[in-house]
Amino acid sequence: MGISPSMHAMVLEAVGKPLIYRTVPVPDPAANQVLVKILACGVCRTDLHITEGELTRPELPLIPGHEVIGIVVRRGEQAVRLKVGDLVGIPWMGYTCGTCRYCLSDRENLCENAIFTGYTMNGGYAEYMVAFEPFCIPLPPLFQDLSKASLLCAGLIGYRAYRMIGDGAENIGFYGFGAAAQILIQIARHQHKNIYAFTRDGDLEAQDFARKLGASWAGGSTQKAPLKLDASIIFASPGYLVPKALEDVDKGGVVICGGIHMSDIPSFPYDILWEERSIRSIANLTRKDATAFLGISAEVNINTQTRFYPLEQANSALADLKNGKFQGAAVLVMDQ
Ligand SMILES: [Zn+2]
Ligand SMILES: [Zn+2]
Repeated sequence: MGISPSMHAMVLEAVGKPLIYRTVPVPDPAANQVLVKILACGVCRTDLHITEGELTRPELPLIPGHEVIGIVVRRGEQAVRLKVGDLVGIPWMGYTCGTCRYCLSDRENLCENAIFTGYTMNGGYAEYMVAFEPFCIPLPPLFQDLSKASLLCAGLIGYRAYRMIGDGAENIGFYGFGAAAQILIQIARHQHKNIYAFTRDGDLEAQDFARKLGASWAGGSTQKAPLKLDASIIFASPGYLVPKALEDVDKGGVVICGGIHMSDIPSFPYDILWEERSIRSIANLTRKDATAFLGISAEVNINTQTRFYPLEQANSALADLKNGKFQGAAVLVMDQ
């Protein structure tokens, strides 16, 4: 396959400014990397936190994007596990060192020397990218359906959050009903669990969307849950949702913060944490999470409502995500 020396990419040159459609050189893979021709890249809320500056360490100029479906087209000399032509996914976790105390204790998601796709290395808002071979996820053929791109972050990290609530939880709250919630509710329903969906107040479309996917109840995020919940996962970023979610969980209940960024959490009375309620955050993912998620997604036929955008309309996709203009997920699709 001929690979042209240049490609189109959407580039973040300054935080707070729109991405710019540029022609840039196709990168060369290092010895332990592969060059991937990108078919599609999902648009994640984290990309908004990067472009708007809430995450403060982007490697500028930066090509964002960390929900990549692509095909291996070239390999570095040590990259011998994958073959040219393999369908792979490239997630947020782009590299871990394997030698720090977190890596050595099976917690590579907390690696001291991690490199993050589309944040501290270039990502998938482009026609090609290089990726570290051990962190590329070989994908089953169902990922030829490019609407599945959002499974690679919303699905993977969402599922890590979901597993943290424990098997015993039956009545589960989701705060924010977007790309992650639409995937997890399908897994939760498959496991006969009941989902209570909290959306932006007054967002009746999102509430209808949640009910359509099997939510037992849907309402605004400031509404009280109709019963005491066993656990809640917060996908949305307003910090005030943390005490709100705590108030609605039962004794021993857990509140998981699934996003990479939240606004400040207001102070709250100890009473709402008392009785062994807990709050925890989820950071990144491990390769084991990816394996676990691909296992469950082979079992549950997960459908994702998706709005597709061409690469050069990435700014519109980000704006629509920010303004809640679509249900489900947004995915950029490259010209083939
Ligand atoms: Zn993401
Ligand atoms: Zn490490």
